[in-house]
Amino acid sequence: MSLPVERQPLHVPPMEEVAAVLQSAVRKNFAEGTVTVVECPDLTKKPYCLGAAGLCGSPRLADVGGVPYLIPLVQKDKLYDVKDLAKSVELPDSFVVGAGAGPHAYVGVNSELIAHVVTGDKGLNESRIAKIDAAAKCELQKLPQNQTGCALMLNMFASEGRRGKVLRVWAKKRTGETNLVSCLRQALESHYGEKPVGLGGTFRLVNGSAKCHVMPEFSTVPLTCDDDVNKWLHFFDFPAPMMFMSTLVSKDPGLDLRVEHSHGYGQDYGGHYHYDTTPDTVEYEAFYNIAEYMFRIDRPQVTHNVGRD
Ligand SMILES: [Zn+2]
Repeated sequence: MSLPVERQPLHVPPMEEVAAVLQSAVRKNFAEGTVTVVECPDLTKKPYCLGAAGLCGSPRLADVGGVPYLIPLVQKDKLYDVKDLAKSVELPDSFVVGAGAGPHAYVGVNSELIAHVVTGDKGLNESRIAKIDAAAKCELQKLPQNQTGCALMLNMFASEGRRGKVLRVWAKKRTGETNLVSCLRQALESHYGEKPVGLGGTFRLVNGSAKCHVMPEFSTVPLTCDDDVNKWLHFFDFPAPMMFMSTLVSKDPGLDLRVEHSHGYGQDYGGHYHYDTTPDTVEYEAFYNIAEYMFRIDRPQVTHNVGRD
């Protein structure tokens, strides 16, 4: 069955202009920071170790499903596959990074998905899931090559995975109250107003640690407010180094979007990024590209704003 797909062009300002807007915000929120337009380093190399060399070529974002398929109660039939989603965003041979929910049919329980897939002939699946084990600890698993499924929701950035010009964000020692991703998103929102600007890519927590959550098995009682959700989620403070897959859009152009979403992993742990917990020692390095389109796939008919942080 094919999924309903809506597509909207995003505002694509000159990259140098976006860099200036972001740098000004980063310098207000961090003691040191630069945002520059650079030739994307080879992201297959250390310390990034991604599945494709770059984030360039037909860059686009997609918001698939949504929190309403998880909350108040799970809809277990909401299953997707990154390979099919790549076709839905009209880029069947693509490099996809993103944040979503893991394939519960395969994993056996609910989980966080750190999506990281090259689709098409050169197929490569580097995705991980993070789940809560029987001892209430976080467990990280690399998914097998043929397991490119996901469930409920996915915020993804797709490109041809080529090298080219990207934004490099570097920030050290947080002096403000805002996490890295919100800092970037809010800067774009205040500068570009109603015009939605979307970014996708990856960031590294180089130093410090980050508050992350991992979803446990699905709740059998309805979760009806943020308080319910926060009591249900498991929260952790994970140390650097961590690699995050990240998407953001400055403004929801009426598509019922999750405007920022980042999942990442370290040595043997992973989860959903909230903020760093070590302002004095934190250091980030990020690479983002500017997306040309936002695809809204299988948008929930009934929606709400619970659990979108
Ligand atoms: Zn998440």
